[in-house]
Amino acid sequence: MSKPASFYENVERNFDKASAFTKLPQGLLEQIKLCNSVYKMKFPVKVGNDVQVVEAYRVQHSHHRMPTKGGIRYSIHVNQDEVMALAALMTYKCAIVDVPFGGAKGGIKISPRNTSPAVLEKITRRYTAELIKKNFIGPGLDVPAPDYGTGEREMAWILDTYLTLKSNEVEGYGCVTGKPVSLNGIRGRTEATGRGVVYGLNEIVSYKEDMDALGLSTGLKGKRVVVQGMGNVGFHAANIITEYGAKVVAIAEIEGAIFCEDGIDVKKLLKFRKSSGSIIGFPGSTTLESSAAGLEVECDILIPAALENQITIDNAKRIKAKIIAEAANGPITPDAEEILLKKGMMIIPDIYINAGGVTVSYFEWLKNLSHVRFGRMNKRFEEFTQNNILDVVEKATNKNISVKERNNVVKGASEIDLVNSGLEDTMIEAYRTIREAKKKNKIPDLRTAAFYVSIIKIADAYGSMGIFP
Ligand code: NAD
Repeated sequence: MSKPASFYENVERNFDKASAFTKLPQGLLEQIKLCNSVYKMKFPVKVGNDVQVVEAYRVQHSHHRMPTKGGIRYSIHVNQDEVMALAALMTYKCAIVDVPFGGAKGGIKISPRNTSPAVLEKITRRYTAELIKKNFIGPGLDVPAPDYGTGEREMAWILDTYLTLKSNEVEGYGCVTGKPVSLNGIRGRTEATGRGVVYGLNEIVSYKEDMDALGLSTGLKGKRVVVQGMGNVGFHAANIITEYGAKVVAIAEIEGAIFCEDGIDVKKLLKFRKSSGSIIGFPGSTTLESSAAGLEVECDILIPAALENQITIDNAKRIKAKIIAEAANGPITPDAEEILLKKGMMIIPDIYINAGGVTVSYFEWLKNLSHVRFGRMNKRFEEFTQNNILDVVEKATNKNISVKERNNVVKGASEIDLVNSGLEDTMIEAYRTIREAKKKNKIPDLRTAAFYVSIIKIADAYGSMGIFP
C-alpha cells in the first residue's frame, strides 16, 4: 500500500487543483507555492541535573509581503512537514482576508501538558533568542502568534525576551501578537478565531439558494452544531454560535465525546473540565463510545477545531453533517474531501474560516506600531457630536428625547467594538469574494475557489514588483 500523503503534500495538492483555474505562468506558480525559508534548530535547556535537547522550527513560507506572520505550536507531534504546511496555509489565509503579510509558522516539539511552566518558560525564552540570532523575529521581519498549545502566557515570554535583547526598538511590541492586553495586546484577540468562524458561518447560511441545496433554512438560529476540541478556537466558536441561537449538541475532546439533544452549556462545560479534568460526566449529557464518535453525530454544522487529519478516508463515509467549517488547520484530507463533496456536503475551508485570528493579530500589530489604543482619540468626540445632533433634533421637533433613548443612540466606538466590527466586515467580504469567484469561474468547491482567490492576489503582488508582467 502506498504511503498516505503528508500534510504539506495535501496543501500542495489543493494549491495545484486551484492553480489549474488560473492562467499564470508555471514558474510564478512554483514561486508562490514553495516555502522561502525553513529554519530547523536544536538547542539545550537545563532541566534538573540534566540537559534536554529541544527540536524546534520556524518556517517563512512567503516573502512576497513583509513581515511574515503565523502562530507557534507546542506539540509532541511537531515536525518539519507540519510546520511547512501550516506556514503555507498562513500565506493563502492572509491573502484571502487582505492582511498584508506573508505566511509563517513555528513549532516546538514538546508536550505542554507534561512540561512544567518553569521549563516551558525556559524553552520559550531560548527559542525566542534563537529566532533573534537568525533574524527570524521582529515587527518588520516575522511576527509570531498563538497556535495549538500556546496562548497569551507564551506570547508574553516571547515579548519580554525580545524587548530585553532589543531594548531600543520603538516598535518592539509589534514583534509578537496575541499578547495580554496589559502588555499592549488587543481586546478581542483571544476569541478572534472562534468569533471569526461564527461571523463567517452567519454570512454563509444567509444565502437561501445555497441553503436550499443543502436542505437547510437560512440563519444560524436552531442549527444543530457539533464541535471537536474545546481549546481556544473550539470553545469560543461553540460559545459565540449559541449567542446566535444555534445549539451545540455534541462535543469531542481528547478524553472522549458527550452528547445532549437540548444543547450543551459550553461555559459550564469548560468550568467542569477545569475542575474534573474531563468533559465526561458533564451533568445532563450522555457519553459517546469514543472521542472519534463525536465527529459522526448527525448535525447541520460540524466544527473540527482540534488538529489536522481528523476526517480521512477511514471515517469520511460516517460523517453526517451538512456543513463542515474547518476551524482547525487541515482537519480534512483531500481524499476524504472528495467523499464528503460527493455526499453533497458544503466544506468551508480553513484558509478562509479560521482567518479571524490573523485578522485581529493584524489589528494588534497596527496598534503596536501606532502606540495608541483604537478608539482612544475619537470615542468621546463621536459621543459629543451625536449628542449635539440629538440636541438639534429636539429643538427642531420640539420633542424631548429621553435619557434612555439618548443613551441608545449616543455611543462612541471602543477598542472591542472596532475590533469586532473590523473582523465581521473582513469575514463577510472575504466570503463574498470566494463565493463570487466560485460562480464566475465555475469552480466546483469552496476550497478550490478560496485557493484561487489567494493565488490571484499573491500573483498580483509579484506583478506589482515587476517579477511578473
Ligand atoms: P488549543 O491547544 O487551545 O486547543 C486544542 C484542543 O483540541 C485542546 O483542548 C485539545 O485537548 C483538543 N484536541 C486535541 N486532539 C484532539 C482530538 N483528537 N479530539 C478531540 N479534541 C482534541 O489550540 P487552538 O489554538 O484552539 O487551535 C486548534 C486548531 O485551530 C489548530 O489546528 C490550530 O492550528 C487552529 N488555529 C488556531 C488559531 C488560534 O488563534 N489559536 C488560529 C487559526 C487556526
